[in-house]
Amino acid sequence: MLSMNKTFLKRHHILLIVLALAGAFSLAGIIEQRRLAVTASAQLWFFDVGQGDAVLIRDREGKDVLIDGGPGADVLEGLSDAMPFWDRTIDVVLVTHLDADHYVGLFGVLQKYKIGEIWWNGAAPTTDTARRFVAAVEAKGIAQRFVQAGERADLADGTSFQVLWPREEMRGRIVPPATSSAKGGGTNDFGIVGTFSCGASRALFTGDISAHVEAALLDDASALRAELLKVAHHGSAYSTSEAFLDAVRPKEAVISSGAGNRYGHPTPRVLSALLERGISIHRTDREGTIRYACAGGRLHLAK
Ligand SMILES: [Zn+2]
Repeated sequence: MLSMNKTFLKRHHILLIVLALAGAFSLAGIIEQRRLAVTASAQLWFFDVGQGDAVLIRDREGKDVLIDGGPGADVLEGLSDAMPFWDRTIDVVLVTHLDADHYVGLFGVLQKYKIGEIWWNGAAPTTDTARRFVAAVEAKGIAQRFVQAGERADLADGTSFQVLWPREEMRGRIVPPATSSAKGGGTNDFGIVGTFSCGASRALFTGDISAHVEAALLDDASALRAELLKVAHHGSAYSTSEAFLDAVRPKEAVISSGAGNRYGHPTPRVLSALLERGISIHRTDREGTIRYACAGGRLHLAK
């Protein structure tokens, strides 16, 4: 009987120690997050939104650029973690392209937040839901900017986001559907590509472009150099060519994809191309939300 009590007490103690440690770690996480919010020039949040993309760039002064909104409501949870509860303004919402896994979550964002400007390419929406989204933006009277290469958003401490693609005016254009969506083409290939600059470090955001667009971007390879790469199209086999990786030369790569997704993203070819080059891989399907900080003119993974 006595020994049973002892075992129970022992277990009880271990449980208490585990809980205390967990508490200390989560508290340390919160303190670190507060510290970065004050000291870092900007933070990048790759939200875990399942199979889709949603990235928030939030600068030290509280200016927010949201790149895509994922397929559903998960983005709202991410935003409430990343932004203080009193801040209900997102300065720029950039929609890379009107595919469901990139913008459907933005319906909820439109409801909950005041949006300064919507940046998108302006190509004619091809689905009823996409038309409904554009109508919702118009109904709210949100300013729209139809962006192409050269457009830039200036952020705190000289950081900025710059658009590299598309290189032509897309407003009102009808993009022919891809013959095989898996191989790229269609709306994916007119999606917005851009870089976030933090001193000499850069993060490259590639939306869902295929290797065709990557090849076109190679003619200005110096603009592509980036320490951090948001891997195109959730790690699809038809993006992230070896030539593109050798031009970007990232040290780290983030793949935003859903666990057990039906497309098999990220694909083994892309994973091995990254590993062969010694690039660290971070995956939202395994790690959840992934955060980087721009501090001292450099990007680094924030724990
Ligand atoms: Zn996508």
